[in-house]
Amino acid sequence: MKLMCTVEIANRLNHGGRRKAQQSCLTIGRQSVKDDQIYLLLQTVANKKGTKYKVNNNIEKVFSNFVHEGKATIRLIEPPQDLNIKSDAIQLKSFLHVLKLGLSKKLNPAVLTLSNLNPKNLSNALKKRIVIKQASDYPVLEGFPRTTEELHLSGLQRRSFDRQILKLQGLRILNLSENQLTNIPHELGMLPNLQELNLSDNLLGKGPINKWSWMSGVNISKSLCLLNLNSNQMTVIPDQINKLRSLITLHFHNNLITTLPQGIGSLSKLKYLVLSKNNLTHLPGNMRNLRLSDLDISDNPFSANLNDNNAISGNVGVRTLVESAAQVIVRKRVYYDASIIPFTLVQYLDKPSYCMCGAPCFSCYVNRFMSINLSTIAQSIKFSGMAGNRILFDCYFCSTRCLKLFSKNLI
Ligand SMILES: [Zn+2]
Repeated sequence: MKLMCTVEIANRLNHGGRRKAQQSCLTIGRQSVKDDQIYLLLQTVANKKGTKYKVNNNIEKVFSNFVHEGKATIRLIEPPQDLNIKSDAIQLKSFLHVLKLGLSKKLNPAVLTLSNLNPKNLSNALKKRIVIKQASDYPVLEGFPRTTEELHLSGLQRRSFDRQILKLQGLRILNLSENQLTNIPHELGMLPNLQELNLSDNLLGKGPINKWSWMSGVNISKSLCLLNLNSNQMTVIPDQINKLRSLITLHFHNNLITTLPQGIGSLSKLKYLVLSKNNLTHLPGNMRNLRLSDLDISDNPFSANLNDNNAISGNVGVRTLVESAAQVIVRKRVYYDASIIPFTLVQYLDKPSYCMCGAPCFSCYVNRFMSINLSTIAQSIKFSGMAGNRILFDCYFCSTRCLKLFSKNLI
């Protein structure tokens, strides 16, 4: 049995004598058919032949308190070293299980051989960056190495998302551009380390409505920094975009988008926003809270005519209990999904408008179009509109007080 992992070797006799953690393959098995002795074989790219450690009467202790986090330590007697292992938690658990069976001699060593990983395959198995350029190279049967951190599957004309990707716990960069994807599975949001996701040149404007639920995933909302959805025939940006709170770069070039969700203004880390070549006529008022480095809104039919759209609508009467509760949930960022509360409430909570003061509003607000200078939200602006960089913003106000206060400052 083999385990793809990182191993840090700590020498107990020589304090501070630690070798840096390295991508490794740990194998448990026996030397030959005739030999009953069980060994651990530790291979790295630099040491393909590997180092062999005896198992029986040579393991002082296995520290497995943090195995659910994918961490464990094997303390060897000879040489006096600790192998600090990090790996996928489930695989590590089963590896340690086999090792413990071996230690208690409950394991029939005949089922294991050490020769099951030859050095030639090792560098492939430990690869971190995988680039597949043509469909014939696609590893349909063997899958991707569990160590993959960067995966490029661009221009393969794939119609469906490969669920093998969901097993790659170390994945940081995923490039699925130039395919024909119409759906992304919910589980993508569970990947713990995904930082960059390129979905450009697909067909995500089509397909099922719930294809964006991955954006609400607990892990991806904290880890994703870059999202590219260029050229996807999208007419709307999903409301769930405001869940991706770590986003720094967001691309929607060449789509059919007419309005942006109000929540986009709550992406406080956002620095680079590309919305060129769409059908935008105005921007959401909440975007005024952004402090962007670069904003590209060229090639959009922005309207500058304030008079036509300046009617005030809505009311700021008595706030309902549902509205007040929803405000607290959104403000405190309480986690919710359709498994905890009814789906209709999820939809309600996913769609707040935001007052210029930052307060979320659901049905109790005043709505008004206002002309705002873009230089208040971005340092560098690409804009093919009228002079002065002023365009219409669709603004919401939670109270007449906010309406008076912000109207004075904006116009
Ligand atoms: Zn307000």
